[in-house]
Amino acid sequence: MRPLTPGLVVEAGSSVDNHTGAWRTERPRFLSVACNGCDLCAVYCPEGVVFKAAPKRYDFDPDFCKGCGICVEECPVDDIVMEAEIR
Ligand code: SF4
Ligand code: SF4
Repeated sequence: MRPLTPGLVVEAGSSVDNHTGAWRTERPRFLSVACNGCDLCAVYCPEGVVFKAAPKRYDFDPDFCKGCGICVEECPVDDIVMEAEIR
């Protein structure tokens, strides 16, 4: 067996140290107009960064959102839109 080439990420559990939101080219915007509180955006977000800010009002942590758009796809009432990231 060949020896493994050392990588850059060496410690487990280090994802919270890497602000992966910097990878994003688009970001979600939660409109909070038609939200029914179904929680699907939070359930399907692969990063686990969507949270309930108030009843029928959700938001996300921009430090770790990768801008994948899955929350937008899963929202049954189109209450989330993607928009260009401005840095
Ligand atoms: S765009 Fe992707 S990573 Fe960001 S909040 Fe939505 S589902 Fe989560
Ligand atoms: S998926 Fe849409 S309707 Fe459901 S909680 Fe999220 S924003 Fe609200």
